[in-house]
Amino acid sequence: MSLLLDGRSLSEKLRSEIKQEVERYVKLGLRPPTLAVVLVGDDPASQVYVANKRRACEKVGIRSIVYRLPVNTTTEELLELIAQLNAEDGVDGILLQLPLPPQINQQEVIPAISPKKDVDGFHPENMGRLVARMEDGFIPCTPLGIDLLLKHYGVELKGKEVVIVGAGFIVGRPLSLLMLWRDATVSVCHIHTRDIVEHTKRAEVLVSATGVPGLIKAHMVKEGAVVVDVGISRLGDRIVGDVDFEEVKEKAYAITPVPGGVGPMTVTALLLNTLKAYRKALGKEGI
Ligand code: NAD
Repeated sequence: MSLLLDGRSLSEKLRSEIKQEVERYVKLGLRPPTLAVVLVGDDPASQVYVANKRRACEKVGIRSIVYRLPVNTTTEELLELIAQLNAEDGVDGILLQLPLPPQINQQEVIPAISPKKDVDGFHPENMGRLVARMEDGFIPCTPLGIDLLLKHYGVELKGKEVVIVGAGFIVGRPLSLLMLWRDATVSVCHIHTRDIVEHTKRAEVLVSATGVPGLIKAHMVKEGAVVVDVGISRLGDRIVGDVDFEEVKEKAYAITPVPGGVGPMTVTALLLNTLKAYRKALGKEGI
């Protein structure tokens, strides 16, 4: 059995540090950090994610305000709300829960969020900062959470073969850039990669972010690798990842569980990004 990369317990530790910092600010008489969460439509998974994020905010003293918009909201209506939240001094972070209903033009609304409040890190300016290695931007939450988890467990990345399966906008792509910051040698595979196994077998750190349950089997994993499972799929009443955990745990040096690995770290990274936005806002206010 390999080492379990426990995102839940690391999250507890980090969240208690966040809570202490927030308490210090509030004791000084400052307003609490504030996150605006925008939820369009009634996608059941999104409702659960939003509820989790709100609970996590509440526990550390971050104020969260949810804006629920009907499923038939237009791009213009959403842009109007974003403009209002951008202008509001008491709002530090804006989180637009994805996916959006199909009539909304995502390419138009994400860039409309102020890059200073873009705690998801999806704004082109923040993505650009990730490319340029400008550390004052916001790093998308799942890649940031994975990076913190690997760091906590002392996983050395410099010069290592990191293979990421899944090139999505939310996880795979930004994570590949972050792993380059860490001086890893990075390969990114996706649905059109000709021979995935040829790549995964080389990986000293293997990350899977596809949403295909059981995609990663033991024969695809190098002996002693660190395996990070980002996938979240519902199989009946179970939540499972991309990795065949029972097989792979015998071969890997370390592995993340699903649930309890990357999921809680993603939410913790959101809290950290919100705190970062708040600190910057305070700086701007000259405090
Ligand atoms: P996405 O649809 O944007 O990207 C999926 C990627 O996987 C694509 O690049 C696609 O080419 C690739 N892919 C699909 N099937 C494949 C296959 N058979 N072989 C190789 N590559 C394949 O998805 P996403 O938003 O990046 O999310 C991926 C998964 O991660 C989902 O299960 C999602 O729920 C999960 N997720 C988890 C967290 C978390 O906090 N744990 C956060 C975000 C996303």
